[in-house]
Amino acid sequence: MKIRDKILIVEDEQSICNFISTVLSSHDYDPMVARTGAEAQSMIASHCPDLIILDLGLPDMDGLDILRQLRSWSSLPVVVVSARSHERDKVDALDLGADDYLTKPFGTDELLARIRAAIRHTRTASGNDQVAQSGTYTVGEMTIDYNKHQVLINGVNAKLTLNEYRLVALLGKYAGKVLTYDFIIRELWGPRASGDNQILRVNMANIRRKIEKNPAEPRYIFTEVGVGYRMAESENDS
Ligand code: CA
Repeated sequence: MKIRDKILIVEDEQSICNFISTVLSSHDYDPMVARTGAEAQSMIASHCPDLIILDLGLPDMDGLDILRQLRSWSSLPVVVVSARSHERDKVDALDLGADDYLTKPFGTDELLARIRAAIRHTRTASGNDQVAQSGTYTVGEMTIDYNKHQVLINGVNAKLTLNEYRLVALLGKYAGKVLTYDFIIRELWGPRASGDNQILRVNMANIRRKIEKNPAEPRYIFTEVGVGYRMAESENDS
């Protein structure tokens, strides 16, 4: 019998708690609920959940403080939920080590996709099973070949420049997960690189011209406005 993943929902709004609990119960997860930050901290210690869904606006403390404290001793996957549409909160949460975020209101499919990706990334050292096993990542008609350092569309080399390839390769390694502009810049150009997003935007525009049928409606790499980029997840990967 499959052991169900335990998911701790830290949320003070009853209706959202009920929604998430119901969705999780009917998709083979084992949900539990904490309504305050203090309750969350004691439940994390006593129940060892497999993942935490963390609301940022709690009655007794800021969800970001819980995250900061947790990250000092644990890499347990955390998906942050925020009613705030402020991009800064999402970036702060990701920089503090959150695995992903959901903005209220969100739907069932989005919730489940974020949970699956966060659990999978924590359990696979490379971040992506496909890449670890085959050295390639395929989604739709696009394949990233990590051995040949090429991106192929329908088997044809899309002829990316080195920087463009490295950007796509990085996103593919973390497919399904949003990567912040700062994280991408540090990974590609080192810790001292300037935090200017303009170079990323230029590269991304060129990449999309080469790999997307319609660059205005990308299917492979999505822009998370004000936050970063996310590579589409392969359907047979979940
Ligand atoms: Ca709240």
